[in-house]
Amino acid sequence: MNLIRDLAELKNEVRGVKSEGQSIGFVPTMGFLHEGHLSLLREARRKADYVVMSIFVNPTQFGRDEDYEDYPQDLEGDQKKAAEEGCDLIFFPEKKDMYPPGYLTYVNVEEITEVLCGACRPVHFRGVTTIVAKLFNLVEPDRAYFGQKDAQQALVIKKMVEDLNMNVEIIVCPTVREEDGVAMSSRNKYLQPVERKAAQIIYSTLLAAREKIIAGERNAEVLRKFMWQNLSQEPLADPDYVEIVDEKKLQRVDQIQGPVLLALAVKFGQARLIDNLLVEV
Ligand code: AMP
Repeated sequence: MNLIRDLAELKNEVRGVKSEGQSIGFVPTMGFLHEGHLSLLREARRKADYVVMSIFVNPTQFGRDEDYEDYPQDLEGDQKKAAEEGCDLIFFPEKKDMYPPGYLTYVNVEEITEVLCGACRPVHFRGVTTIVAKLFNLVEPDRAYFGQKDAQQALVIKKMVEDLNMNVEIIVCPTVREEDGVAMSSRNKYLQPVERKAAQIIYSTLLAAREKIIAGERNAEVLRKFMWQNLSQEPLADPDYVEIVDEKKLQRVDQIQGPVLLALAVKFGQARLIDNLLVEV
């Protein structure tokens, strides 16, 4: 497996791969890999001739008081894991090359970035779409893989690709969970053991709300309150938001009539965890 830092070297490699008529599958990440990331690599490997993973902790998607400086990293471990999954190339650029002095250009998707995580993290999605657009230009993938764990992010990327006529197919893969239901996340590393145990409340709340919908509850406000109360039973949980939105526009739903996304963000100590569940009715 190849590791490239330099942008010109990457472009050269991509040119070579393309000239041989090979297809490129791409998995963008911030590293500190876990099974969730690896499931995307495996999915990419199934179809692509050449698989690229990027590892870049992107400063523009972090707010001023967020964890950019502390974000966990383990390049050596990541290289081993990615190689085991048959990844062909890790692109590991430097901040100074992705955002050189005088950098001025940002990509912004409107409306669907202003709700859920966008309401709590105002610059976040602008940073995500900007870096993903740049990575798409550099890697020129045929397909790119994202996790349902970050449902809003996946939707925002799909909208950017559609609106900007980008030539890449976006594939969204299921959320990978620990045995107790907690969604895998690099940020789980921040959790103290008691917080890690308490974090089970996130998925159990989502499942309990889904049960209520299956049993016939259609009033979203009743369900939101139920989810909020459920989370409040856990003293270590500090919810940021609890929402029930439509799956396409992410607009708040009053009465459930079609598929909805149950989405929440909860802080445990210094870790802010997000999770969601798509419920079809
Ligand atoms: P990150 O490194 O956290 O930016 O995540 C990189 C990619 O992995 C994104 O597309 C995430 O949605 C995806 N991802 C993160 N956690 C999981 C998970 N538990 N299951 C599936 N995909 C995930």
